[in-house]
Formats: sequence, structure tokens, C-alpha cells
Amino acid sequence: MNQVAILETVKSFFQREHGHFINGLSHPGKGALRQVVNPATAQQVAHVHDGCVEDVEAAMTAAQQAFTGSWAATSALARGNLLLKLADAMERHREELAQIETLCSGKTIVLSRGLEVDQAVAFLRYFAGWAGKICGETTDISIPAAQGEKLRGYTLREPLGVVVGIIPWNFSILISIWKMAAALVCGCTVVLKPSEYTPLTMLRVAQLATEVGFPAGAINVVNGDGRLLGPMLIEHPFCAKVTFTGSVPTGRGVGNSASALAKPVTLELGGKNAALFLDDMTVEEMVNGIIEAGYLNQGQVCASAERFYLPSGKLDEVLEKLSQRLAQFRVASPLDEACQIGPLANKAHLDKVLGMVNQAREEGDEIVYGGCSPDQPGYYFLPTVVKVRSENSMMMREETFGPVGSFLAYDDEEKALAMVNNSPFGLAASVWTHNLHKAMRYSERMQAGIVWINMHTLLDPALPFGGIKGSGNGREFGSAFINDYTRLKSVMMRY
Ligand code: NDP
Repeated sequence: MNQVAILETVKSFFQREHGHFINGLSHPGKGALRQVVNPATAQQVAHVHDGCVEDVEAAMTAAQQAFTGSWAATSALARGNLLLKLADAMERHREELAQIETLCSGKTIVLSRGLEVDQAVAFLRYFAGWAGKICGETTDISIPAAQGEKLRGYTLREPLGVVVGIIPWNFSILISIWKMAAALVCGCTVVLKPSEYTPLTMLRVAQLATEVGFPAGAINVVNGDGRLLGPMLIEHPFCAKVTFTGSVPTGRGVGNSASALAKPVTLELGGKNAALFLDDMTVEEMVNGIIEAGYLNQGQVCASAERFYLPSGKLDEVLEKLSQRLAQFRVASPLDEACQIGPLANKAHLDKVLGMVNQAREEGDEIVYGGCSPDQPGYYFLPTVVKVRSENSMMMREETFGPVGSFLAYDDEEKALAMVNNSPFGLAASVWTHNLHKAMRYSERMQAGIVWINMHTLLDPALPFGGIKGSGNGREFGSAFINDYTRLKSVMMRY
């Protein structure tokens, strides 16, 4: 076991009084104190004050003043440079940020370093590269001009204003950075509302941003209960756009509230992602692919696969070998660098996952492996393999957001593809085969915002990401994000 020693800076950070980050300053606020609980021990590690209407007002006002003032006066290239400086600062504070994340979310320290921090840094640098390249275009004008006159048209890409970013608990830094960096490079300012379970990481990132030179008010963080703060933030007159990642029901409500006020909204809602394995893959390749697709971060990844379609002749052997591999996974403290299975992020989530697996068992699905918590403190749940009765099993339709793969055999690839697409959701999907002809054709026919071939879950800043159908709207990353954080203004001139 290689248990990481908690840094002194992390210990003292947890002992401080926390609340919000508003207008360039840490601001504890006066709201009720909420416990921050380490999911690996079920013990409290810190406290944070809930936000109230005054905190929302202060954050939105600071963001609006920066939007029209200091941030508007910061040139595009200077904005990019600040994002690069923040990336450097986060790299310098990599271990500190990773430890704060692990102690609040239960993510293994290896993933906190490599996914939360390193990927956040990579995305910051990607978005910084857009600075100075977000622009409109000139166009010829065809309407008649008077003798001796000419007409010219052009478009401007204008930042929307204050962006409210509502963040889930599964990647408290990375998802915040996706939204924050995209907004900032476009010239918007942000007010972030982290999950009540992971309220601390972005407070530290916002401090670092101020230290490297971001003007006060460009980045604000308000903590507290989303059911109270969400509507206040969305309905605030200074809120020009909402970007949300989280559950389907909450996301629908957020979408309805924003749309009712004609505010643009980006929704990233997960769903029930599918992975289709074709018969030419070996059993070992299928097992490796399933582990990659379904069990990263205990399945708490919105793009993870939860529905697996396997050829009937191989299903039982794959499930047997998969169960053997999962049984060898090291369930341990997430601060242990060899840990492969850490806890789920919070007690409510553990109860939800356990309840769904128990319901599946009662309804007649077979729990081939796992299906329960190991005998140890904390919110652990064993990686679980469910062989479902049919496509209509609850496990093939509802997201567990946990380490639970549900498996169904098929005999006919066309029917399997139809089952993949028979879902109200469409965030992500994958097809696994050595047959290039089929890989290309099936990937084109899969109904999802992102389709992987012989891989799953990995995201790249250059490739747009977002769902179709019930999994949301809008696109993050690539160049597609520009549409979500700017609006076009048309200018026509006579000369
Ligand atoms: P939610 O969708 O409830 O929460 C996501 C964010 O929205 C949090 O910051 C939350 O704040 C906030 N929020 C809650 N209610 C409102 C509201 N009425 N208006 C505006 N914002 C609101 O997800 P949970 O964190 O509760 O997780 C529940 C389930 O969601 C999980 O079990 C999982 O299935 C799914 N999920 C999906 C994710 C994805 O990436 N697709 C990510 C995380 C969860 P607060 O924390 O204070 O409630």
C-alpha cells in the first residue's frame, strides 16, 4: 500500500472557514454551515457556509461589473495569457488540488491527479489557444447601392455576458474548467455553483486565478443548495446564459427555467450509454473494453457505458472473465495509489445505486458479480455485473451512475444496433470491432453526440462533446463552444 500523506497546505485549507469566492476575495458568508464529508470514511473533513440571496446578488453584480469593465478591457490575447497562467498555477498546485478533490469526492488520487487536474490544465491551454481567433466575417452585400456608393457587411462575435455554470460532483474541477475557460476566452465572466458535495476545489482554483492576475469579478463561486441557489442565479437579470451538467430531471427544470426567460442554455445530462461488441473481438478484448467503458471512477462518468450488447455465443464467458478481473480490483482508500475502486461520492448516491441493483435482483435480473457494499466504512460499492432478462429491464433504461454494467446477448447485429438506439437518451456510444467496414457504418448509425470506435469515455478538447435526444443540447469544446458563449451581431455600412 502506498498511502499518500496529506499535505500541510491541504490540512490548513480544510480548517479554514469556507463559503464563496466573490469579486476576487474569499467570502465565508453568513449562511448555515454545511458539512463536507469524506466518502471514504463517512467523516466530516470541512465546513462550508451555504449561500443566500445576498451572496448571489454580490456574485452576479461582481461578474456583471467585470464583464462590462475590467474583463471587457482585457484584450483577447491577454485573456488567453491569463488562462495559460492559471494552467501553470494549477500544475504547480497539482497535488494540493488532487488531494482536496479526493478527500471531498472519493475519486482515487491517481484519477484526481491525472484526470481532474492534468486534464483541466490541458483544457485550459486548449481554450487559451482560441484567444484572438474568435471572430466574425466580412460579407458582400447584394442589395442595390446608389451610384458611387458601396455597401459592406460584417459580423461581430460578442460575448453573451455573465454565464452561470452549474456543476455536478463527479468532476468538480474539470467540468468547471470546461465551462469557465470557454466562457472567459469568449469575453464572458462566470458565476459557478458547485455541487453541495464538492464545494471546495473551485474555491481554491478561483484563489489561484486571482493570484495569477484575473481581475476581480471575472470568476466567482457561490456554494449552497442548488434547489435554492439555482433559480436565484438563473432568474437573476444579470444572468445571460446558463450552462449545466448533471442529472436529467434537474437539467430539464434548469432548461425550462432558462428558456422561459429566453436565456440560452447548454445542458449536459448523461443518459444510458451503450457499447456494442461485435463477434470478431476476442473475449479478452471484450473484457478490457468493458472495464474501460463502464468502470472508470466507479462508473461516475456521464459518458460511461452502462448498457452492453454482446454476441450470445460469448456472453457467459465474457461475464465470467469480467467477474474474475473485477474481483481482483483493489478496493481501498482513494488515497492509496494502488486503489482501483474507491467509494461512491456520497451516501445518497450509494443508496440510489444499491436500491436500483436490489430492484433489478427482485425483478429477475441476475447479479453475476458484486451488487453490494464491501464490509468497510465509507460509501463503497463493489463493481457490479448484471445479466438482464431483456431490453426492457429497468437496468437497460435508467442510469445508475455507478459501477454497474448491464449485459444483454444478441444474435443479430442489426437488432443489436436497433437496441442501442432504442433509448430516449443519446450522449455517448461505442462500437468495438476489427471490421473497419462495420465500424464506420455502425458508428454513423448510432444515435449519440459522440461515438467511439474501439474505445470509450475519453474526451479530447478538440472534439465537440454534448448529447442528443434527452441527453441535452449544446456542444462543449472543439470550435463548437463559440456558438454557445457568443452571439452574432451583423453590421452593414455604406461608404
Ligand atoms: P443534480 O442534477 O441534482 O445536481 C447537479 C447540480 O445541479 C448541482 O450543483 C446541484 O446542486 C444543482 N441543482 C440541484 N437542483 C437544482 C435546481 N433546482 N436548479 C439548479 N441547479 C440545481 O445531480 P446530483 O448531484 O444530485 O446527482 C444525482 C444524479 O445525477 C446522480 O445520481 C447521477 O445519476 C446524475 N448525475 C449526472 C451527471 C452527469 O455528468 N451527467 C453528473 C452528476 C450527477 P446541489 O448539489 O446543491 O444539489
